[in-house]
Amino acid sequence: MDRAFYRDTWAEIDLDAIFYNVQSMKQHVGTHVDVIAVVKANAYGHGDIQVAKTALEAGATRLAVAFLDEALALRKKGIPLAVPIIVLGATNPSYAPLAASQNIALTIFRADWLEQAVMYAPYEQPLNVHMKLDTGMGRLGAKTKEEVQQMVHAIEQHPCFVFEGVYTHFATADEQNIDYFSFQYDTFLHMLEWLPVKPPLIHCANSAAALRYPDRVFNAVRFGISMYGLTPSQEMKSFLPYPLKEAFSLHSRLTHVKKVKAGEKISYGATYEAEADEWIGTVPIGYADGWLRRMQHFSVLVDGKRAPIVGRVCMDQMMIRLPYELPVGTKVTLIGEQQGDRISIDDVAAHVNTINYEIPCTISYRVPRIFL
Ligand code: PLP
Repeated sequence: MDRAFYRDTWAEIDLDAIFYNVQSMKQHVGTHVDVIAVVKANAYGHGDIQVAKTALEAGATRLAVAFLDEALALRKKGIPLAVPIIVLGATNPSYAPLAASQNIALTIFRADWLEQAVMYAPYEQPLNVHMKLDTGMGRLGAKTKEEVQQMVHAIEQHPCFVFEGVYTHFATADEQNIDYFSFQYDTFLHMLEWLPVKPPLIHCANSAAALRYPDRVFNAVRFGISMYGLTPSQEMKSFLPYPLKEAFSLHSRLTHVKKVKAGEKISYGATYEAEADEWIGTVPIGYADGWLRRMQHFSVLVDGKRAPIVGRVCMDQMMIRLPYELPVGTKVTLIGEQQGDRISIDDVAAHVNTINYEIPCTISYRVPRIFL
């Protein structure tokens, strides 16, 4: 039999949820604002090409990724040349002609980058550039008027560049206190004044800023985490303008079920000892799948009940304490819903003391994604 995969562990990606989240954002910001779907890191672990296509169908007009390889992969997988892709990270200037030939726009933040990129001319097509301004994130971006003017001058000098966009990135748009956000926004407004001519696209908003301040997004938003149905921070849950639909769920099946006696031990280090006679199930997922050792003591859903993870999580497997004897093959839900109970990505993130972004990104390539 020819199957896409043979293992008993998989993730389900609800593309209808992605569609809904993009459409809702589009309605929220208005038709004059471009939605740029951020599909870096394999679409935050959800599957780059499937999410990209769904987002475009739902009204997104551009895609954004972290580095050139991710953009080229999208082209290879079938995103047509007509759909602009923006690389948000830094790119070696020697790859500028390659990016240009694939209608991939690059982020610029230094005039010397432009001077170096010119040395790789001739270009088949001009390169679209988005100038990044550092208003307080402290990561990439120009900070001074001189730097900005040098870049503008280099773009004007060289016809191989097209000044398509200017942008910045917020560090705290998801926080209750808006002081630093306001400071960055005002700084952006001030820095935009340094441009003698504005490019067609001006963008600053990530999901948090777009959800909260739709009237301060200029004419494009870079929509990442909330396209996947996740709230940018826990604080923001109380002031979401519309409900989000979570797209990612994670499932497996019991591969072994056994009764252990009181006093018997489970897994590496023999750290778990059964207090009474217990039913223990083995689940074929482990830290090489991105289900980290820190997940010990968390619970999963089996037969609609919470079952704690007992003993250490191994590389490919882990054990859970079952509420009662269950047959081999019983479905185990690690993220998602079973019989009215639900484990969210936020629950998993809280258990390992991290942010929701990290959880689907960490679920590794070994876990096949099924698209619903
Ligand atoms: N813009 C830039 C420059 C980013 O680095 C990211 C994500 O890290 C985004 C936009 C999307 O942010 P979010 O996922 O919070 O919507």
